[in-house]
Amino acid sequence: MKQKMLHRAMNEAPLFEGAPEKLLITHLHNCPVHKLQKYQILIAPEEHNEYIYMVLTGSLSVHLDKPNNPSIRTVSCGGTVGELSLIGSTKTSAFVISQGISTVLMIDREKFWAIIDEMPIIAKNMLKILSTWIVATDKINLDNQKQMAELEGIARIDGLTGINNRRYFDELIVRFIKRSEHGKEPLVLIMLDVDHFKNYNDTHGHLGGDQALVAIAKTLHDTVRPGDLVFRYGGEEFAIIMPFTSRQQSNSVAERVRVAVMNTKIAMPDGSPLPSITISMGIAESKLSGETEAELIKRADAKLYEAKESGRNRFCV
Ligand code: GH3
Ligand code: MG
Ligand code: MG
Repeated sequence: MKQKMLHRAMNEAPLFEGAPEKLLITHLHNCPVHKLQKYQILIAPEEHNEYIYMVLTGSLSVHLDKPNNPSIRTVSCGGTVGELSLIGSTKTSAFVISQGISTVLMIDREKFWAIIDEMPIIAKNMLKILSTWIVATDKINLDNQKQMAELEGIARIDGLTGINNRRYFDELIVRFIKRSEHGKEPLVLIMLDVDHFKNYNDTHGHLGGDQALVAIAKTLHDTVRPGDLVFRYGGEEFAIIMPFTSRQQSNSVAERVRVAVMNTKIAMPDGSPLPSITISMGIAESKLSGETEAELIKRADAKLYEAKESGRNRFCV
């Protein structure tokens, strides 16, 4: 029975392709056979490994990091696992799990080198196998990097409006203040709040309010200059960071933003129109003298409060 399984696996094995069968059999026939139950773990990461396992029956799956992660590779009759850790004398790097009841042939280190010494074609085969893995692993790494970049992007975006979120604001404002102090370049922060928004929500429903926030965000994004950054600061509040900008320069942008929001068309998802809305703004310029972001925000907020108190739909500096 074992002989038959061994023959079949050897014929299928990329590792033994082109190797003289008789010679192989003399080496392999006395290797132990190990039977695995369904979902039994054959190899776990960070272990010492002394064997190359060749699948005789059934199949094995390879998983990085956690055994329940999706498998990166399936190994069936004639396929081998454990080569890398055995050759490099390194610890194992993945989980190898039996997918059903499987049997594997255990080829120990000494035997493996003896076979290679006698049949160099096996070393050649091994190089081919390893190179396909390297390509596959590179692809996985690349995919992971892309996924990470995507997640980072998502973590910075406000779910409702699609513009930068508060978290990203907190991160960037610190950096921009430092940069402007270092380069002695002016920096302006505008804090912005929608006027009578509670009333708007009460009249047109939360959905109507959301539609207004989305429309305002788009207008802000489209109206500021290319180097300016717009954030949803929270609720119906927004913030604009204007690098390399003095208070005087920011006034004209603020006025343009005020008018643009006032003229922004708002509609329900079905297209039925909603009334337009206004905003109030507070502007503060960085002191460039070790002022913290909290202090700068507080000064812009105080000006925003002034704008509200003096009648809304305006900015104060
Ligand atoms: P003021 O002009 O003084 O700013 O008055 P206001 O009504 O805008 O201010 P207030 O702070 O009383 O109300 C803010 C409202 O914004 C209350 C809250 O329900 C609403 N709001 C906050 N976040 C959201 C949101 O994501 N969607 C909607 N639809 N409403 C929101
Ligand atoms: Mg508010
Ligand atoms: Mg408000």
